[in-house]
Amino acid sequence: MPLPNVILIEHPVIQTKLTELRDFSTESRKFRALLNEIASLMVYEVTRSWPTMPRLIQTPMEKMTGHMLARPITLVPILRAGLGMADGVLRLLPEARLGHLGVRRDEVTLQPIAYYQKLPPDIASTEVLLIDPMLATGGSGSASISYLKQAGVTSMRFVCLVAAPEGIQALHAHHPEVPIYCAAIDRQLNEKGYIVPGLGDAGDRLFGT
Ligand code: URA
Repeated sequence: MPLPNVILIEHPVIQTKLTELRDFSTESRKFRALLNEIASLMVYEVTRSWPTMPRLIQTPMEKMTGHMLARPITLVPILRAGLGMADGVLRLLPEARLGHLGVRRDEVTLQPIAYYQKLPPDIASTEVLLIDPMLATGGSGSASISYLKQAGVTSMRFVCLVAAPEGIQALHAHHPEVPIYCAAIDRQLNEKGYIVPGLGDAGDRLFGT
């Protein structure tokens, strides 16, 4: 049954790349490339319903009214794994501003700890894409959304690659109006808070740590 406000992007090209990405034998260089390629491909679906505004232009032939995105864009990767999707999104939305949120999970309690925030001053008037490849417990995502709301953001989408049902539930329990875009919904979290089957630690695989 489809989950409310969860958009599963099951495009065959994305599924192919995601399968390669999940594979244990995929090393960091290829992992980085694949993650960015998938992020680029997801942008079409994620931005599909963004508002546009008319703009009168002159083609070489005549005047016409075209359509442009109505609002500026801010991309907010959750550090550190979210950085792995940023270039891929910027490839299609090069005019976007970039904010950063540093939220990590306490290894024992699994609770989110915010350690860095830097956002564009006018973020409240922009369309925000909050990005993190893994939606696991939902703690970091939920804390990040709360922070963005405090900064005045009213329109945001959460974009991840792999989501756990537990993470979706947690995010929607606190922020039901924020749409979640993902390329896969996996079975569950394990006892350490990792998604299974998942792809392991996205940050470690991305940065070779
Ligand atoms: N973060 C990751 O990188 N992987 C998981 O499986 C869960 C959280």
